[in-house]
Amino acid sequence: MKAEMIKVDPANPQREIMEKAGRILRGGGLVAFPTETVYGLGGDGLRPESSSRIYRAKGRPSDNPLIVHIARLEDLFKVAAQTPDGALRLAREFWPGPLTMIFPKNRAVPYETTGGLESVAVRMPNHPVALSLIQAAGGFVAAPSANRSGRPSPTLAAHVAEDLGDEIEMILDGGMVGIGLESTIVDFTESPPVILRPGFISREMLASRIGQVELDPGLDRPGSGPPKAPGMRYRHYAPQAPLTIVEGEAGSVAAYLNRLAQEESQAGGQAGILACDETAGLYRYGVVKSVGSRRSEEDIARRLYQALREFDRERVSCIYSESFHTPRMGQAIMNRLLKAAGYQSVLVSDYKD
Ligand code: AMP
Ligand code: MG
Repeated sequence: MKAEMIKVDPANPQREIMEKAGRILRGGGLVAFPTETVYGLGGDGLRPESSSRIYRAKGRPSDNPLIVHIARLEDLFKVAAQTPDGALRLAREFWPGPLTMIFPKNRAVPYETTGGLESVAVRMPNHPVALSLIQAAGGFVAAPSANRSGRPSPTLAAHVAEDLGDEIEMILDGGMVGIGLESTIVDFTESPPVILRPGFISREMLASRIGQVELDPGLDRPGSGPPKAPGMRYRHYAPQAPLTIVEGEAGSVAAYLNRLAQEESQAGGQAGILACDETAGLYRYGVVKSVGSRRSEEDIARRLYQALREFDRERVSCIYSESFHTPRMGQAIMNRLLKAAGYQSVLVSDYKD
């Protein structure tokens, strides 16, 4: 592995480490770092060559824009040409935090960073390591999630090493992330603003602060109208084995999957089953993983990507997942699961052994 892996104190990052990481970014190199959502792959957001290197390292299509991370509110005005009042209200309320907002870009931001678009996505992450790195790098860090393009986002430094260890200069290991799903993205180049990606901050939380907020109509359905950002059309977050979501009452889902998983093993394969604490004991065949209790949607969100990666390591031949329509983050969890499944889902009702 080429990347230097350095453990950093997530609450009080050591100054020498952050200065070293900042020098790498100012010199045009790439550093992966923890945020409160997932690990990011950082480069200097105002340098075209740095952004181009990010695309190459991830194997990411160059029309899928990056998010520019800042550490101070006043820096927003150096990259965004117009900032509506509603957006500023949200920034004051939720930054630093898991909210990305899109604005018309100004000239400082190269097209390499925005995937050729006239708009720029901006976020202030809520993590001491991320904030300290952004400052050490000069204020503007372009960072997509630190996974190879298409794979589940990294929630541990080891996931970054697995995907990008040979491509980048440094990985800052700050332990497991807090939220585990990428930020909510709201497009403020539209009025009313539009949610392009659901996340920890729900539509209701946004609407209670600024009134009407739309949901992008293409969100949970493939091929319904042109995507707002080119990146929205790519398959994402996906494990290697084909994934299918199984909807329905717990007993029926378990009976149905017991039959499919048994058939899979008779055919020489092995099914992976993504379940929860309440149902894991109902499954009799295959590799069964729980993402936690249905009573804690935070746990489900935090463990989802890690569980998908573990199925890859265990070389299962197919994966079935229960659905997780939890009250607040359900929209974000199901958005990622559906994309990982390439929108394959089945509804099972009244199925018995
Ligand atoms: P990632 O950094 O991998 O979480 O992905 C960033 C995502 O942000 C992209 O895939 C787009 O969906 C979205 N995004 C970033 N910049 C823009 C933009 N200017 N307009 C619309 N969407 C954007
Ligand atoms: Mg990503």
